Amino acid sequence: MTDLHKRHRAVLPEWLALYYDEPIELTHGEGRHVWDASGRKYLDFFGGILTTMTAHALPEVTRAVSEQAARIIHSSTLYLDRPMVELAERVAQLSGIPDARVFFTTSGTEANDAALLLATTYNRSNQILAMRNSYHGRSFSAVSVTGNRGWSPTSLSPLQTLYVHGGVRSRGPYAELSDAEFIAACVADLEDMLGQTRGVAALIAEPIQGVGGFTSPPDGLYAAFREVLQRHGILWIADEVQTGWGRTGEHFWGWQAHAGNGPPDVLTFAKGIGNGMAIGGVVARADVMNCLDANSISTFGGSPVTMAAGLANLNHLLEHDLQGNARRVGGLLLERLRAIGASVGCVREVRGRGLMIGVELVRPGTDEADPERAGAVLEAARAHGLLIGKGGGHNTSVLRIAPPLSLTVAEAEQGAALLERALRDVE
Ligand code: PMP
Repeated sequence: MTDLHKRHRAVLPEWLALYYDEPIELTHGEGRHVWDASGRKYLDFFGGILTTMTAHALPEVTRAVSEQAARIIHSSTLYLDRPMVELAERVAQLSGIPDARVFFTTSGTEANDAALLLATTYNRSNQILAMRNSYHGRSFSAVSVTGNRGWSPTSLSPLQTLYVHGGVRSRGPYAELSDAEFIAACVADLEDMLGQTRGVAALIAEPIQGVGGFTSPPDGLYAAFREVLQRHGILWIADEVQTGWGRTGEHFWGWQAHAGNGPPDVLTFAKGIGNGMAIGGVVARADVMNCLDANSISTFGGSPVTMAAGLANLNHLLEHDLQGNARRVGGLLLERLRAIGASVGCVREVRGRGLMIGVELVRPGTDEADPERAGAVLEAARAHGLLIGKGGGHNTSVLRIAPPLSLTVAEAEQGAALLERALRDVE
């Protein structure tokens, strides 16, 4: 155990889970690569969904941050702040929500917390619908709508949460149904649940479950839900913390795969938009955003230094059509990983959209989740110089692949080859 690891263990919470038996200390990054303290270089197939939407150490972002930091960093909630207004205008316009208002936070958790505050206040109810296997953050309210038990450490709750079927499809009683049958079954389940309740405030859902293992419902599921929700006056909160900003390739937001009945009432975002700077936020229809009748501010939400990073990063994303890159390179990577998966006994399914790809592992010849093997593949990939993530409601046996959106074809091929070696190592 390294000295730093020992000191980490001595002072930080036990539940702060680090990856790897010997955790990595990252010291710098560039493009799609990162280096550790020993000088070892890794291809980063996971940081894209955590911190780094476009590329590590993107010069435009570092320049914007240092220039703004040299000028002023103050609170944007009590004084006018040009970068915050500019980024809010851009996000409102991109969100697809008509007459949208934007409130900036410093994390996805806090964004969802704000969304839940809005929805419960707007509808004067603390009943919330959430999806089974969901993840929405670590605050008291966010864990209260998190259906993934591994990430929801308390059964106490400030909300009355009802868990709806539909986030995970590949297992369970509905696994054999066609897309249309699946949607019909989930809608019937929702209608049945609503028949037993009164005054639900909102449904919160990730268009593609992230921590839950990159599970994607059939297109149109949330549009079908939306029709029912609208009839009952229930708001739809789309948690786009992992699915936003073009990562899924085909769409700028995950909800657009479910656009049949219009955009969500509330949308939350975070993670990579600041390319490492702490930005989260909630976008909502004006009447929903403005329903609070008391002040509600955030000292660091909208900080000019993070907003400058967000603007520079967003400009880079749009100018270089990184959504298109995610579609093209992600499509090639998915194909390549599917071919590898078909030749390796422990791969149950390779699924995904754009640069958000999950590889679900099982014990060969069975349908049983295999978390030990997933951990072993993570270690083996690291040994070959590739960083990937893991997740999944079924004992975290899904490998998660989410590189920065500027991934090149050559890097995609190299990463796929390294992952193949790691999978074969543990066969
Ligand atoms: N929502 C989703 C869908 C997430 O994946 C996450 C983070 N994994 C969060 C919310 C919470 O974001 P943060 O860690 O920034 O609080």
